Amino acid sequence: MPENAASAAERLHAVLTTLRTTMDTQISTAPSVREEHSHGEAMNASCLPAAVVFAESTEDVSAVLRACHAQRVPVVAFGAGTSVEGHVVPPEHAISLDLSCMTGILAVNAEDLDCRVQAGLTRQSLNAQIRDTGLFFPVDPGGEATLGGMCATRASGTAAVRYGTMKENVLGLTVVLATGEIIQTGGRVRKSSTGYDLTSLFVGSEGTLGIITEVQLKLHGRPETLSAAVCQFENLHDAVQTAMEIIQCGIPVNRVELMDPVQMQASIQFSKLEGYRPLTTLFFEFAGAPAAVEEQVSATEALVEANNGLGFAWAESAEDRSRLWKARHDAFWAAKALDPQARVISTDCIVPISRLGTLIDGVYEDIKASGLRAPLLGHVGDGNFHTLIITEDTPEGHAQAWELDKKIVARALALEGSCSGEHGVGMGKLDFLETEHGAGALSVMRALKNTMDPHHILNPGKLLPTGPVYQG
Ligand SMILES: Cc1cc2nc3c(=O)[nH]c(=O)nc-3n(C[C@H](O)[C@H](O)[C@H](O)COP(=O)(O)OP(=O)(O)OC[C@H]3O[C@@H](n4cnc5c(N)ncnc54)[C@H](O)[C@@H]3O)c2cc1C
Repeated sequence: MPENAASAAERLHAVLTTLRTTMDTQISTAPSVREEHSHGEAMNASCLPAAVVFAESTEDVSAVLRACHAQRVPVVAFGAGTSVEGHVVPPEHAISLDLSCMTGILAVNAEDLDCRVQAGLTRQSLNAQIRDTGLFFPVDPGGEATLGGMCATRASGTAAVRYGTMKENVLGLTVVLATGEIIQTGGRVRKSSTGYDLTSLFVGSEGTLGIITEVQLKLHGRPETLSAAVCQFENLHDAVQTAMEIIQCGIPVNRVELMDPVQMQASIQFSKLEGYRPLTTLFFEFAGAPAAVEEQVSATEALVEANNGLGFAWAESAEDRSRLWKARHDAFWAAKALDPQARVISTDCIVPISRLGTLIDGVYEDIKASGLRAPLLGHVGDGNFHTLIITEDTPEGHAQAWELDKKIVARALALEGSCSGEHGVGMGKLDFLETEHGAGALSVMRALKNTMDPHHILNPGKLLPTGPVYQG
């Protein structure tokens, strides 16, 4: 039989036979395990992987990719499955490669403020384990995501306005290439002007260029003082204007998050937030030495007052602060609880901050015209916000939600924005890539993909639109 004339099912069988000789107990074909790995937290269609392999080491990942490369079998890396654009949905006859057992902390260099971890560790677990060093890792997406998955989606969160995203916080990686070859990128230094920046290439590559097994991360000192406050506004424009002016004045706030009245109502109910009204709300966090915090607070208060804010309500204790930020991180679930039978899809537009008000005005028009309920919230300090579109869980309902999503993205792109500030492309944002990047840049991306993964076994059908598709 000529090479690869075998059917996709036969080639998959050959891979599993090879892997079973050394990793038998790490392979599952149980229906419940396959179901768990058939989708992320998104509305996109799901598809069962043929098998799930639980990697325990870089060498395991290398063995899986070597076998899959030889047999042209697709592999989808799986961290915690919290991604929201269909990133982890496998094609048919694929292997889902789960890295969630790789949870080791390999080194903590407190004096240099860095650490090296395995890709399946979550950021919550990392922070709990390094608490006594006085250091922490600041990138905080709402889901309980793995650090490998966060690298792969170039994730960010509420603290990006102060500390940056994964892009700014990853120093180096261990990556297994499509062939199974293991490479190191970057290192421990804070800057280097040597060679192509492969670390940045893999950060945001959504498992389409290689599988990350270790991550070298920057850590940050826990601030001496933390202070959180909530300010409500009668008018959304005033709140957006306040956030914009804070950034334009260079006030180094730790976090500045917006919730519109619909989201605020949902979060008051879901997170039992007491003492707040369903009005447009900004959540602030200030951090640093006590004098620096005082200075940030008084500069922010002046801007809030000038923009008709209704005054600050302070979260004084650590307990109150964590309740507030938990409510912010649970916003998606609060929106979902408005109609538990419905589906929620999250838009993720970002624009230059001066255009945020214009975009939100347009988005409100689109929401009104659609007749759908769509709470709005966001990392406004970055110009990034989510509209949580609540829709009937039917094909018509999904189509209506996608229609609204497309209109919102078109508005953001027209304002020199991006279709995704932090969630990534997956399958959900494929249609917008050419408009956002242009045909020339896309063809460079395709050339990279073809070079690094010539058989298109790594997460096929994601990130690159109409690229050569895996032919199973
Ligand atoms: C309630 C909620 C709130 C959220 N809030 C935010 C937010 O504020 N900011 C934000 O950025 N995101 C947010 N997200 C999205 C999600 O948490 C992020 O995309 C996260 O980075 C995904 O990590 P994961 O470990 O779950 O990855 P997965 O979902 O398992 O995988 C995501 C992608 O990365 C690939 N991948 C996974 N691990 C690896 C690896 N080791 N090597 C190579 N590729 C890999 C997968 O193949 C897939 O393409 C939220 C999600 C939910 C459900």
